[in-house]
Amino acid sequence: MSELIADIAVNAPLKQLFSYLVPAEMVEKVAVGKRVKVPFGRRTSTGFILLTRQGSSKGLKKISTLLDEEPLLTPELITLLRWAADYYCHPIGQVIRNALPAGLGSDKTQTRILYEPVYRLLKREPLPRGQKQQELLKLIAEEEKTPLSRIRQEFSTPHSSLNRLVEQGYLEVCEQEIQRDPFLYEKITEDKCLTLNNDQKNAVKSVSDSLEKNSFSPYLLHGVTGSGKTEVYLQSVEKCLNLKRQALILVPEIALTPQLVARFRARFEPKGSKLAVLHSGLSDGERYDAWRRINRNEVDIVIGARSAIFAPLSRPGLIIVDEEHETSYKQSEGFRYNARDLALVRAQQQGCTIVLGSATPSLASYYRSEQGSLQRLELPQRVHTGNLPQVELINLAEEESSQTLANPLIEALQNTLEKREQAMLLLNRRGFAPFLLCTDCGTSFHCPNCEITLTFHQRERLLRCHYCDYAEPPKEVCPNCNGGNIEPEGAGTERLEQEITELFPGARIARMDRDTTSRKGAHQRIVDKMMRREIDILIGTQMIAKGHDFPGVTLVGVLGTDNLLNFPDFRAAERSFTLLTQVAGRAGRATGKGKVFIQTYNPEHYSLTCAAEQNYADFYQLELPFRQELGYPPCGHLVHLVLAGNQPQQVKQQAEQLAEQLFSIATNVEVLGPSPCPLAKLRGKTRYQILLKSAARSSLRSMLADLEALSKNIPGGVGLSIDIDPVDM
Ligand code: ADP
Ligand code: ZN
Repeated sequence: MSELIADIAVNAPLKQLFSYLVPAEMVEKVAVGKRVKVPFGRRTSTGFILLTRQGSSKGLKKISTLLDEEPLLTPELITLLRWAADYYCHPIGQVIRNALPAGLGSDKTQTRILYEPVYRLLKREPLPRGQKQQELLKLIAEEEKTPLSRIRQEFSTPHSSLNRLVEQGYLEVCEQEIQRDPFLYEKITEDKCLTLNNDQKNAVKSVSDSLEKNSFSPYLLHGVTGSGKTEVYLQSVEKCLNLKRQALILVPEIALTPQLVARFRARFEPKGSKLAVLHSGLSDGERYDAWRRINRNEVDIVIGARSAIFAPLSRPGLIIVDEEHETSYKQSEGFRYNARDLALVRAQQQGCTIVLGSATPSLASYYRSEQGSLQRLELPQRVHTGNLPQVELINLAEEESSQTLANPLIEALQNTLEKREQAMLLLNRRGFAPFLLCTDCGTSFHCPNCEITLTFHQRERLLRCHYCDYAEPPKEVCPNCNGGNIEPEGAGTERLEQEITELFPGARIARMDRDTTSRKGAHQRIVDKMMRREIDILIGTQMIAKGHDFPGVTLVGVLGTDNLLNFPDFRAAERSFTLLTQVAGRAGRATGKGKVFIQTYNPEHYSLTCAAEQNYADFYQLELPFRQELGYPPCGHLVHLVLAGNQPQQVKQQAEQLAEQLFSIATNVEVLGPSPCPLAKLRGKTRYQILLKSAARSSLRSMLADLEALSKNIPGGVGLSIDIDPVDM
């Protein structure tokens, strides 16, 4: 007998779907994309219906409960999620859970829908008595419906007055689902379209033409810093909305791009378009509400970080990936997907136009544009002044003293302060000093969990591990030689701040790094102060290089450049070039008189000379041969395997065994390793890595199929993680 069967992705670390019988009373209601509870092993688990079909129910268990009235996943989204699960070798149930807002995919308590009263104006005449009542009416008359939370922003105790107004027939009150969205009531000022320059015009025209065709059209928008990429995004989105399709905008991190979000809101909200902003600052409830609004087709524009690529938009026309080179698009743990790459897949699956934008495209994207699979749009000029900042490389080997700041940079800072302009100093290392060193015997101090040196934080008087946050007070006496000469070595942002304060006593100095921005709103406060010119010198890590448009900044200084260049990763040159080009691009955006100093022992390195000229094309030409020669991306493909466990011997032995097995079956794939990971011990676990490298993706894929069988033999004490297209190794 044939009955209705549902194939379900269960929240468990298993790749396959599980079949369940749909009980008679549920047949009418089951649908693809809805959540269910099912018996699974000895427990009950939450799952998603991904497929329904007629079949034999022999030996199948029944679905216990149907959880949703409306499907949470659209068929298009399911296609994307299944593609991702397969490509990234990750269990489908966990892929779905990652894609959904917290509380929806898990077995734990469900986030609930909240309700609140909303007020609607019925009449304004005759004026009620009492000034407060009149003011309340005025506020409520501004909108069709006014929620209590909005009223509370202006009136601390509105209740009794509101009740009186309802009794007297001025207002009507009803219950409405609360949209928990902190952005919703923030005031914005309307922002009008700018007149595009010719390069911008060409870019918008290409994108618009593609939008009209309604088919997959991928673009790389390569525009130097300050070339007006945002305006190209805005006008492209406008075109997309006019065609009655939705836009999805991905940004590296919402908290770091408040200006971009503000401009989108200012441009589109006054026209009645609805935005949803998905970001890490949202509570579970807020995220859940945003997801439901999108799912119900109430949203025209979604802006969000990495996971917003899974936003359930039903008719996206345009996907924008801003700062596409940013590594934060790659999730580095668990489900290791790359949102930029998935954006291309989604655009292809749903027939969208997609724009990857950057001043410093990833080598991968630029390579694609050279190969023709991305169409490149160039904005080679700055909007306001046309001038790129003037960059000077300071050769530290020729400097006489070994002070942190070289003399030319000190002079330039002095100069900037006198002219009442602003400066930024980049040092990509937080804390006071990278390590403490016994100057008698050379002993330094390591994290017991991670085997890396502990960073000295002076204000807290603590040595901290930047990986696991382990902390201990610094020792007065060396545990090795009993000497008393323990000194901080090297400089982090905290020490730099102290030195700058001593050098320029009158200057207003601020620091932006993970330590000073951990509290909610702290990052924004620093940005606002910079905008109001209440800071003269801003010191910070790579955070200060990201997306800011501070018109007052005319000087940028870069320190610690050689640490970037010498980082043990084949992408070190690319990372250095990107960071330096981006931070240099912060100088002179409004005036065109930007000046940048880069301190280094390697002034001839092509990463630096190309960054100094903001010359991406040259950098690409110089870097590509290295990748070609070694078969690294974009000229080859990588899979990074990490084995980790508590027993060092066992991990090592398992890694050796696995590498040997892989080696014996490899065709067209290089098996490198095993070797200890650069972080050989992390959070107490010993780690070994194996790298698979191939010119052909298909060869790697067939090896991954074999790996799945082999990994079943790895004992429980050792975990294997698979990272497809790794960006951090
Ligand atoms: P990018 O993202 O490429 O670094 P932005 O989009 O931040 O550059 O633009 C830099 C500045 O130029 C912004 O202040 C923006 O408002 C302004 N701008 C962009 N396009 C135009 C234009 N066509 N006319 C006038 N100003 C513009
Ligand atoms: Zn640690």
